[in-house]
Amino acid sequence: MPNAENMLAVAGTRPRELAAPGLSPRPRRKVAVLSCMDTRIDLFAMLGLERGDAHIIRNAGGLVTDDVLRSLSASQRLLGTEEIIVVMHDGCGLHGASEDAFAQALAADGVLPSWRLGAFEDVEDTLRHSLARLRSSRELLAREHISGFVFNPEDGTLREVAASAE
Ligand SMILES: [Zn+2]
Repeated sequence: MPNAENMLAVAGTRPRELAAPGLSPRPRRKVAVLSCMDTRIDLFAMLGLERGDAHIIRNAGGLVTDDVLRSLSASQRLLGTEEIIVVMHDGCGLHGASEDAFAQALAADGVLPSWRLGAFEDVEDTLRHSLARLRSSRELLAREHISGFVFNPEDGTLREVAASAE
């Protein structure tokens, strides 16, 4: 069942809770978080974030795409963030997915997208590549503080993945 009607009704019951009068759009903690869209990841609880603290950018996989670089550029150049945290996780839907099968299914529907699914085999290796791409992206003003974490939704632990030395 579609949820939109119910969601609109719920929002309508709590405008006071939702309003953020006077809260700056500039993230208080000067940080942007890129994460997978996975339903099990509660970034606010995980990272100790409050509304107003951080920019949150989510997509399938938590991958660094051109559009993520667009958002991070805006985050840094327009809204003053200086740090990036990337959160991937164990058990991701893209882990072990077939890039070819996905492309073939799209092609069967007459679609040849300019983007790729971003399927991967090794979450830590993929995260290291993402961190390296961010560090070499001159669209970004601040590249000194870029960290990567992998979340395990089964036991709730978060581990850091260091960037490769390259
Ligand atoms: Zn995922």
